[in-house]
Amino acid sequence: MSSKRSPISAQSHTHILKNILISGIICSPMKKPEKMILEKDNPILRRKSVEVPISEISSAKIQGILKEMAESLSTQPDGVAIAAPQLGYPLRIFIVSKKVLNEAQENGNRALHSNIVFINPRILKLSKETQLMEEGCLSVRWLYGKVRRACRATVVGYNEKGEKITRGASALLAQIFQHEVDHLEGILFIDKAKDLREILPNYGKIGEKLI
Ligand SMILES: [Zn+2]
Repeated sequence: MSSKRSPISAQSHTHILKNILISGIICSPMKKPEKMILEKDNPILRRKSVEVPISEISSAKIQGILKEMAESLSTQPDGVAIAAPQLGYPLRIFIVSKKVLNEAQENGNRALHSNIVFINPRILKLSKETQLMEEGCLSVRWLYGKVRRACRATVVGYNEKGEKITRGASALLAQIFQHEVDHLEGILFIDKAKDLREILPNYGKIGEKLI
């Protein structure tokens, strides 16, 4: 039998190759667009999120969601934390940006932090002492308001490797813990805020931290 290709099959082979090359040219340089952050009227933000089974934490699906969350957060210069429902996933996950930890680090501690991931977080303790704190949210642009938050909070949950973690915090980090756990319950800060006002970015409020 001859291995010589007929002119027709050679032509179809060229055609297939051409298609692969064209789609390669079209697809390869394009970065997957970041997931849109849902806005306040989206019903997913009002759902109670469900727990992630611990055995699923290492799955490609959950690891992919964690990556999407970190990428979305990194595109928001004023964003310091994000919860999974804000990207349309009603799962009990939130991420705190390394920016918060690196800015808050004490003198002499030069170690650079990475983002903290909390899966199935639960507030273990809240201080009796509370304060009114200025708050904004990536899903509620451009409203700001004052929310009464516990000054200190302790959260227990799992990290991205499925290891159990407990973390106590005060000030901004404690505020973030409470705001993010609210997201997982379908609560937005505007439900609790006093003195709500709209401050558009061109009115000089750039740099306000959004959570
Ligand atoms: Zn928020």
